[in-house]
Amino acid sequence: MKTRVLRWTVLSGFAAFVLWYAFGYGDRSFENLCPFGGVASLYGLATGGEFTCSLGPANLSLLIGIVVLALIAKRAFCGWVCPLGFIGELIYRLREKVTRKRVKTIPPRLNAWLKPLRYIVLVLVLYFTWQTGDLIFRGYDPFYAIFSGMGHGTLGWITWSILAIFLIGSWFVPMFFCRYFCPLAATLDPFSRLGLIKVSRNAETCIDCNKCHKVCPHDLHPEKVDVLRHHDCTNCMECIDACPIAKCMTLKAKV
Ligand code: SF4
Ligand code: SF4
Ligand code: SF4
Repeated sequence: MKTRVLRWTVLSGFAAFVLWYAFGYGDRSFENLCPFGGVASLYGLATGGEFTCSLGPANLSLLIGIVVLALIAKRAFCGWVCPLGFIGELIYRLREKVTRKRVKTIPPRLNAWLKPLRYIVLVLVLYFTWQTGDLIFRGYDPFYAIFSGMGHGTLGWITWSILAIFLIGSWFVPMFFCRYFCPLAATLDPFSRLGLIKVSRNAETCIDCNKCHKVCPHDLHPEKVDVLRHHDCTNCMECIDACPIAKCMTLKAKV
């Protein structure tokens, strides 16, 4: 719980900064704050030396920054920085408060079938962005819709429907958008797999209570391994806080 307070404070700070940037500077491009813009620009930079649409060096710098972060601390960007992931987390925590029950995750097999969707989203977004040279997926992006206040490029009822799916999905499945649809998560996966700082478990003191698995928003199984290498781990430390045995679970640098 102590770590969650710290994490949510950090996440709130980043969300407030994005809102301040998006609404405080009328003519500055809000899209400059999106690290995925760096991925979207790679083709244009490689072929014509130009950034796509309104994107610029800030997007590329952010992308490089979060790739380096993933190599150090896996998907810590998702657990500690990303405002959209924070909204998703707040929604399912709210459901837990309202229903007084831990949100049940979907069946493991279905979860495994749905997870590759994010790679399809990544390929589609990059293909059409690189073909058109425009950010034509703005209208399908809940991050853009929320933080731009349904700004230019959104698509009326289509964007509202996507927002509704995001909100309802997040209510029923922890980190719904992150698990199945986020192209940035798909981009970070190979780097996160190599990430140095990982959740580690001391098998000698572990009492197999399973609490660490039950609290994991990504449905991972830290109770089954000594070192958790899974690319979905955001180093949110919820599992470490939930473990009843002192120092049984820790964050360690492991190759
Ligand atoms: S998976 Fe995507 S939306 Fe979710 S926290 Fe990570 S970057 Fe943000
Ligand atoms: S394994 Fe632990 S640190 Fe990783 S995502 Fe799950 S709860 Fe967070
Ligand atoms: S919460 Fe701690 S004691 Fe329980 S299974 Fe996980 S590592 Fe073992």
